Amino acid sequence: MQIAARMSRLGSESAFEVLARAKAIDMQAAKDGSKSVINLGIGQPDFSTPEHVVEAAVKALRDGHHGYTPANGILPLREAVAADIAARRGVNVSPDTIVIVPGGKVTMATAIQMFGEPGGEIMYPDPGFPIYESLVKFTGAEARGYPLLEKDGFAFRADDLLARITPRTRLLIVNSPANPTGGVAPAEEVAKLAAGLAKHPHVALMSDEIYSRLVLDDDKPYASFIPYTHLHDRLIVLDGWSKTYAMTGWRLGWGMWPSHLADLATKLAINVHSCVNAAIQFAGIAALQGPQDAVETMRRAFQRRRELTVAGLNALPGVSCIRPEGAFYAFPNITGTGFNARQLQDALLEQARVATIAGTSFGQHGEGYLRLSFAADDAAIAEALQRIGTWLGENKPKK
Ligand code: PLP
Repeated sequence: MQIAARMSRLGSESAFEVLARAKAIDMQAAKDGSKSVINLGIGQPDFSTPEHVVEAAVKALRDGHHGYTPANGILPLREAVAADIAARRGVNVSPDTIVIVPGGKVTMATAIQMFGEPGGEIMYPDPGFPIYESLVKFTGAEARGYPLLEKDGFAFRADDLLARITPRTRLLIVNSPANPTGGVAPAEEVAKLAAGLAKHPHVALMSDEIYSRLVLDDDKPYASFIPYTHLHDRLIVLDGWSKTYAMTGWRLGWGMWPSHLADLATKLAINVHSCVNAAIQFAGIAALQGPQDAVETMRRAFQRRRELTVAGLNALPGVSCIRPEGAFYAFPNITGTGFNARQLQDALLEQARVATIAGTSFGQHGEGYLRLSFAADDAAIAEALQRIGTWLGENKPKK
């Protein structure tokens, strides 16, 4: 038996590995009476999906929506996405440019497979969502991580990105608000990048906007790439329901594609998953067209927890943390503790029993940082910070 060589180039997402280790520790803790793990590792809202969305899925099942749907998604859902884009971004797009997929990740996988091959280069953020690098390497394309720096609030600088483009660059991936840092690209940098890309017509852009409804500063409207219509013939926008409507387990996402690429993305869908679960597409319509108060309730909770988390982290010895402007992640600098990211992640999980993710899980420029998700209730965050503080007070790195 010989497995294809590209399988050895696949990476993974440490959050899932840490979750499994935390569960194993919890099982042991249940037996020996020791304390269980507080999980600040996993990146998903700790809220339930709004009730009217759940009801829409149940109704769709009862109404008999049990069969295959068009591979790119049912038309009413694609129309609802196009209407949402018109309302939020002020741009009219055809529902035919929307491809419904089982989770935002699938738009990412489709775009990277569409552009990645040996000889080409794909640029992506470092630290960044680990699946970008994993999939780029899987395709055999050259993986060109670009650094995101604490001094820039972990936001990209358009001039830096434009300077890194080569004749072999096929695809540029940007993500704002960002996982794992919570960095948000300032509107002027988004505008500058959009304008600068006019000089590089061979480069496609994938803007991962999955956290676009989770900008935490009220005075900063979200800067999307969708309003830059001169890019529409090479812009792919990744968005979806997972983070906005607390629907990570439903597996529902949408991509906005240039018309000619939407057909290719659909062809890939036909080859891989046929279509998204029929009933869940009706839930997606209910989410977009129904009341949005649950989204705002969650955003307010994340705002409050951000303050709690950042203040708590900055009070810890050897730790400093800038304020994340979006998503629900804090990315503290831990260099002052003397531990590297992986050492601290492992020790905090096993000894302090707090699950966090080493910054290096998101790229080499994540060394010296940890990711903490504040998608957890206030009491859990406070307790976790206290446990980390106690552990840091009692432990110094071995020389
Ligand atoms: N993009 C980023 C930056 C993410 O953090 C995630 C999930 O964590 C995704 C995309 C994928 O989202 P989904 O769960 O909808 O596949």
